[in-house]
Amino acid sequence: MEFEFTREQEAFRAQVRGFLESEIGKGTFRPMCDGWIQGYSPEFTRKVAAQGWIGLTWPKEYGGQGRSDVDRLVLTEEMLRYGAPAACHWFADRQIGRAVLAYGTPEQKTELLPLIRNGEAYVGLGMSEPEAGSDLASLKTRAVPDGDYYIITGQKMWTSCARFMTHVYLVARTDPDAPKHRGISEFIIDAKLPGITIRPTIDITGSEAWGEVFYDGVRVHKKYLIGEKNRGFYQILNQLDYERAGLERLMGNYPLFDALLRFTRETRHDGLRLCEEPLIRSRLAQLQVDFEVGRLLTYRVVMVMEKGKAPNVEAAMAKAYCTTFEQRLASLATDILGLYGQLIAESKYAPLSGMAPHSFLGSKGYSLQAGTTEVLKNIVANRGLGLPSVT
Ligand SMILES: Cc1cc2nc3c(=O)[nH]c(=O)nc-3n(C[C@H](O)[C@H](O)[C@H](O)COP(=O)(O)OP(=O)(O)OC[C@H]3O[C@@H](n4cnc5c(N)ncnc54)[C@H](O)[C@@H]3O)c2cc1C
Repeated sequence: MEFEFTREQEAFRAQVRGFLESEIGKGTFRPMCDGWIQGYSPEFTRKVAAQGWIGLTWPKEYGGQGRSDVDRLVLTEEMLRYGAPAACHWFADRQIGRAVLAYGTPEQKTELLPLIRNGEAYVGLGMSEPEAGSDLASLKTRAVPDGDYYIITGQKMWTSCARFMTHVYLVARTDPDAPKHRGISEFIIDAKLPGITIRPTIDITGSEAWGEVFYDGVRVHKKYLIGEKNRGFYQILNQLDYERAGLERLMGNYPLFDALLRFTRETRHDGLRLCEEPLIRSRLAQLQVDFEVGRLLTYRVVMVMEKGKAPNVEAAMAKAYCTTFEQRLASLATDILGLYGQLIAESKYAPLSGMAPHSFLGSKGYSLQAGTTEVLKNIVANRGLGLPSVT
């Protein structure tokens, strides 16, 4: 067991920090909560691509750097620590590029990987539907063959980055007569194709980071089916592990944690700095303990990935735990900041730029997106503890 990063990894961390601090200094971005999922900045994404940090772990022949998953962990940890606006490339870098590498044809690799690598493909995730969330296999969106094309018809909900995506990763039913898990295929398609209509979803925080996407007879060339026809569901299971496993499940609100600590050092109440109040110190210390537990659970996921295995139970455990950390952080911030702490960013009186109410409201969804906590606990019970599965 090795808890230290190597000298090279620490040097890489310093390099990433230097880059991020310099970009903050130049005004490219201001640290924000949920930057990985809500921070739209093509300029930032272009700069990250120029560093060669998108597709860091991909083989060099596909434009990657052949670096380790630990290096990517270091990179993402710093991006999250600084609240970087990385939504344009996050999903493609995290899982879609990986899916193309694993299942794509040489032609798909040649077409899609350079776009992702150069930060030019902003890929939204289009899986969930009004009647298909946890039970994704019951999805109804159809892809019907027509010569060299599929005609896609259906509706998706909660498609990430819908309002600015250039491509969408889509799962659709390609065999309506097969058992429900066996008739699904994956596609990566141009989001501007005729027949696609996007309606923003305004979430509880007022954000439009997600959207409903309607597919009305969209003609998609067959070459955009990824992997094996009708085996998509099994490919997705693997990708979901990567989707739920990262530090973004723990550190999406790190800028709030950081700002809260500063606030308690700088703010006095009855002559005492807040950080000297025993109750506040104790709750902050507990939060730090929780943070370190979440960090270790997430590091463990990367250790599994480094061994070439899919981090299934480990990813489920990490996400189930880390999302509750984010919720506890938001609750504590709201408690410490008092009534003013409920003011949103638009108010000039909002402390910490209104990050606390944003996180308090936004973190409710963390235990739903990418698999609900109940579903994750089922995975842990079944595949982790060996308990019988229940339907
Ligand atoms: C903020 C946010 C972002 C999202 N981002 C995306 C995205 O980018 N792309 C995308 O495709 N989707 C996205 N989703 C959708 C998300 O994946 C679904 O909301 C989630 O899978 C749950 O599905 P559902 O909402 O249909 O709830 P349901 O599946 O109907 O679940 C309702 C309740 O029943 C419980 N439940 C369901 N099945 C079981 C079971 N077997 N055992 C025990 N309890 C169970 C659930 O835990 C939940 O509490 C997002 C959702 C949110 C809230």
